[in-house]
Amino acid sequence: MEQKRAFVIGASRGIGRAIACRLAKDGFDIIAACREPNGPISETERLVRSLGRSFTMAVFDVADRKEAGREIDRIFGMSAPDVIVYNAGIAKDNFFVFMSGDEWDSVMRTNTDGFYNTVQPLMMNMMAQKSGRIVVISSASGQAGQAGQVNYSASKAALIGAAKALAREIGRKNILVNVVAPGFIETDMTRDLPKEKILPMIPLNRAGTAEEVANVVSFLCGPDSLYIHGQVIAVNGGLVI
Ligand code: NDP
Repeated sequence: MEQKRAFVIGASRGIGRAIACRLAKDGFDIIAACREPNGPISETERLVRSLGRSFTMAVFDVADRKEAGREIDRIFGMSAPDVIVYNAGIAKDNFFVFMSGDEWDSVMRTNTDGFYNTVQPLMMNMMAQKSGRIVVISSASGQAGQAGQVNYSASKAALIGAAKALAREIGRKNILVNVVAPGFIETDMTRDLPKEKILPMIPLNRAGTAEEVANVVSFLCGPDSLYIHGQVIAVNGGLVI
């Protein structure tokens, strides 16, 4: 049997690293996309290899359509991975009244355009393969809206719409498309947020871990979720109910 491959986009740190490690533990070889080949991705590589799986690095900025397309073509050619996880994302928070064009554009280009730039080039090959899983990492902020994050909420809500529409397009090709929407997860992205203000809004009264998000991605990429398609699975301790 051919070795299964997972393409994790935004795998250098945080939730993306946890997903790469969890999928490696599940038996996938990992193709990890990152911007900086000499940065924290080397720790992801070490962890994946220590789990006995192969590790291939794809280096590009998801916001750069040409660069992403070239690198994806170089790595996959006429093939497609079995799993694609679109995890790359940034936040540039500001109240809308003060939000600069750059704060808007950079978040939309990375979080939303990046999905097109990295997943669309693989669609034809994945459809020809007649099987696959696509998991998109959105956010509770995209489900419910978050003050101070009009750009981020818009970008993450767009991913939910895109994944649902794509699920309708390609379900017949045996490609499952789902969304995971994390709440408040302890990573670099949330390090400077005021925990004492956020925790009281979470019924479980704690932050989530990257591994708890990765567990759900693993489920969606595994054999026990074959009839789950076009869904948004929240991992948020009850923040959005
Ligand atoms: P981190 O900031 O720790 O990691 C973000 C990841 O995305 C990094 O691997 C980063 O790479 C990558 N990335 C960002 N911009 C680009 C780009 N232009 N091109 C390629 N890669 C890029 O965040 P988290 O791990 O917390 O977040 C992961 C995902 O989960 C994001 O989509 C985020 O929006 C989402 N999320 C996170 C929540 C949280 O509470 N932490 C809550 C809800 C959703 P690099 O190292 O090069 O910067």
